[in-house]
Amino acid sequence: MNAPDALRLRKQAFEAKKLEKRLCRQVGEAIEDYAMIGPGERVMVCLSGGKDSYGLLDILMKLQRRAPISFELVAVHLDQRHPGYPAEVMPRYLESLGIPHRIVAQDTYSVVKRLIPEGRTMCSLCSRLRRGVLYRVAKELGATRIALGHHRDDILETVFLNLFFGGKLKGMPPKLVSDDGLNVVIRPLAYVKESDLADYARNRRFPIIPCDLCGSQATLQRKQVKAMLQEWERKFPGRVETIFRSLANVQLSHLMDRSRFDFAGLAATGVPDADGDRAFDPPDPEEPAAAEGTAAAASCRDDDPEED
Ligand code: SF4
Repeated sequence: MNAPDALRLRKQAFEAKKLEKRLCRQVGEAIEDYAMIGPGERVMVCLSGGKDSYGLLDILMKLQRRAPISFELVAVHLDQRHPGYPAEVMPRYLESLGIPHRIVAQDTYSVVKRLIPEGRTMCSLCSRLRRGVLYRVAKELGATRIALGHHRDDILETVFLNLFFGGKLKGMPPKLVSDDGLNVVIRPLAYVKESDLADYARNRRFPIIPCDLCGSQATLQRKQVKAMLQEWERKFPGRVETIFRSLANVQLSHLMDRSRFDFAGLAATGVPDADGDRAFDPPDPEEPAAAEGTAAAASCRDDDPEED
């Protein structure tokens, strides 16, 4: 190997290590900030076969080895019986990791094909069916947490989908009780950028299984929102991170939801408050706090603006 090649390889290895450290730090911060995993927890990690969930499992395994608390990981993958699905890939990968796992085979593909008219997007129903199966498996496994591979950009896209098409200020939270009330869903990649996960998947050579074996694709709405965010970031670097940080810095008194803030009961306090109304001052945004050093500096394919 000549000297330039050796230098390039060393640089690549250095960058890969740096990325791995960043992802571990960001996932660790998100877990801590939102108290996602406590001692003795059994975490069911849902693997779709895409880059994000592979990254999630990989990072959680690293954190498990060095965490001061003890918790269990169980990987779960759903074989939805798509035509062309490479059934041997996931079991082989999980066995090579030596991690407890379960592959669940359930033909949600035929159900979706039967119920959704030709040409319509199937992802929403597909995700709902998948969710039902995963809840059942979580119960069977005695899991106390269900970990999903949604990342920062999924969260932001969901916020804008709800804003533009759902008339709601609502995102995809890092931690929430599931809609059946029986599970706690966590998103340890909440602080992680999608582009970092793509780089990480390439570095780690994860055996990616495409999600579009069914021929379905994300809706136009989701594609539009994704493109909008990418365009903003290209033109105004840092804007996406600023928006993301706003999700953890909400001022209910400065919005309009009467069910969340008691506007009717408001009365003058006699105490100056920097957050109080400034009457005729122009409503310029405040200077954003420095992006670095915040917790937010640190990640389905459901197309429903309501998220999954
Ligand atoms: S693209 Fe993925 S989520 Fe959408 S219908 Fe196909 S398998 Fe389901």
